[in-house]
Amino acid sequence: MVDRTATPIPSDRMLWLLQAFEEEMGPHGLRLILKQAGLEEDYTYLERYPATGGWYSQDCARLLHAVRLYYGVGARGTLIRIGRRMFRLYAARHRLRSAGRRALFLLLPRSLRRTAALRDLADRMGEPGSVTMERENDVVRLVDRGVERTYGSSASAPSCWTAIGEITECVMWATGQEPLVIEVSCRLAGDESCRFEIR
Ligand SMILES: [Zn+2]
Repeated sequence: MVDRTATPIPSDRMLWLLQAFEEEMGPHGLRLILKQAGLEEDYTYLERYPATGGWYSQDCARLLHAVRLYYGVGARGTLIRIGRRMFRLYAARHRLRSAGRRALFLLLPRSLRRTAALRDLADRMGEPGSVTMERENDVVRLVDRGVERTYGSSASAPSCWTAIGEITECVMWATGQEPLVIEVSCRLAGDESCRFEIR
């Protein structure tokens, strides 16, 4: 059984992650990774009570850690694609998707669309309030001080690839252009926060 000592995360966010995993890896792949992460029991719980929550940063971090261990060098591409799927699941549900708002949004200049979409992403990425946005000329930075992807895990280099996928898909959605997203520091690698530069 998982030790529940980390911070709670929104249950819809965990559902998007699990759904994205299943789309990318198939139901058997998802089961395998949940087993590797010691979360199989919790997934049964999720199927029975999909909206009740009870998910913690630690669950998410364990799942991502299991993928990194299992897939080795192949984990990067898989997790980026999972992050991109997460954003698409989010956008399909979110208010910005509603026709009226979307039409108004598309009237904004491209750089403002990028900033607005990234601010919105920062508000709901990770644990509530953990992600802040900074701007310097054309570069936007998202700084995540939460532990959703990193609790109890470590890596030799920045490895928050689902976040890179979410950010990339978010900017694509807002501007139609693929951004360059680099994680310049990472809690997994011992830094104080995960910092993502978006160009
Ligand atoms: Zn990181």
